Amino acid sequence: MKKLLFVIAGTILISCSEASLQTGVSAKFESIKGNEIALREFIQAMPKGGDLHNHLFGAVYAESWIKWAEEDGLCLDKAALAIRFPSGAGCGELPTMKAALNFNQDLRNEVIENFSLRDFVPTAGWSGHDQFFATFADMAALPSRFGDMVAETANLAGEQNVAYLELLHTMELFETILPMVAAIPMSGDAAKDYETLMGGEFGKALPDMIARARRDTDTAMARKNNLLKCGTKNAKPGCQVEVRFLNQPVRTLPLSAVYAHQIFGWALMAQDDRFVGTNLVAPEDDYIALRDYDDHMEQLDYLYQTLGSRNVSLHAGELWLGLVHPSELRNHINDAVKIGHAKRIGHGTDIVFETNYKALLKHMADNEIMVEINLTSSDALLGITGEKHPLTVYRAAGVPISLSTDDEGVARIDLTHEYIRGTQEFDLSYAQLKDMTYNGLRYAFIDDTKKAELIKALDDKFIVFESQF
Ligand SMILES: [Zn+2]
Repeated sequence: MKKLLFVIAGTILISCSEASLQTGVSAKFESIKGNEIALREFIQAMPKGGDLHNHLFGAVYAESWIKWAEEDGLCLDKAALAIRFPSGAGCGELPTMKAALNFNQDLRNEVIENFSLRDFVPTAGWSGHDQFFATFADMAALPSRFGDMVAETANLAGEQNVAYLELLHTMELFETILPMVAAIPMSGDAAKDYETLMGGEFGKALPDMIARARRDTDTAMARKNNLLKCGTKNAKPGCQVEVRFLNQPVRTLPLSAVYAHQIFGWALMAQDDRFVGTNLVAPEDDYIALRDYDDHMEQLDYLYQTLGSRNVSLHAGELWLGLVHPSELRNHINDAVKIGHAKRIGHGTDIVFETNYKALLKHMADNEIMVEINLTSSDALLGITGEKHPLTVYRAAGVPISLSTDDEGVARIDLTHEYIRGTQEFDLSYAQLKDMTYNGLRYAFIDDTKKAELIKALDDKFIVFESQF
């Protein structure tokens, strides 16, 4: 009994001191909210949980794509401002990137701007949405740069005290899966189509694809560790960041390719714990993405029910009135959660247009379906900002949310920027921001043991951070 009283007294003491820490830090936070520089300084140093919505190719800054192209002898299509791979005859008519950009700062600037939203101003017929998605056709790197990309992204996170990254990454799709299955017709019956794909060339090649993807990831992680000097006394901040991957099927491709890539992801996740989930990408408003949306959900449901559960996050409701026919705004988030088994939703901007959205919000709150909010991305791609953004709707409904970057290289931002933006646009309190950053770990797809370790480490970092104020 004595021991119990002691423990209770200790708990009260700890929570009192925690409360005073919180008051000091909250007061400081409130006093600097209007000052963006002071807020940057504060939030940059603040411990952060995870960035759960971060596309690896979109995370890389234009300067790095250019540098790698220069080093690897890739070519520049000056008219398109796009990187091209050399053929057998080198760059042929095209200059190498290195020759083209040598002492040509103007052209270098043009390429940087074509690979990003830097200085972008929408014009008639060319929106932020168009500019954003066009960058991916023009940026290119050798597959051997996979590790360089992870190093860059992990280090940017580490410099801001971010503990964990879930990187969306596409493997095997364009080189092997797409050419193999693109012409195979699908019936729309997920069970039958599964048999068709697995009974053909794809099913036979699947074990090799998994083995190759795992080897490529081994190589990339070793290169990342090497580039960041991990394990040495000069280790860079990125070494501290725990990295996992999400498989990333492309929803604008033929239905057979989406399904085959989803099956590939299911197998990869079963065999390699660095791959912790799946997430469909590419513009949700694209004709094929809209046409096949229901089929994509049925495919996910079939795999989930027959091959076993996996972690699913889905870009859903990254839409707005005017971008698509109004009928497309009614069911994407609902179906992602209820048919596609999504535990997290990316964006979810059009929530209030969904049929019975209040019941859906309640379902999401009750089942702790988290929403990955990407403020700069929603502004640049959809023009949704401030009071038009449903962040407050989700919060009021008790749906967990966290802030993420989406494509920090293309948007030329970082996670700190998104926290500053959230604070100023939605007048977030310190406690709300802290809760969101914990959500970046609470709703991470990493295994439970590692998750508990990361949360404990974050607790410890916060105690140190808050004791300064
Ligand atoms: Zn995204």
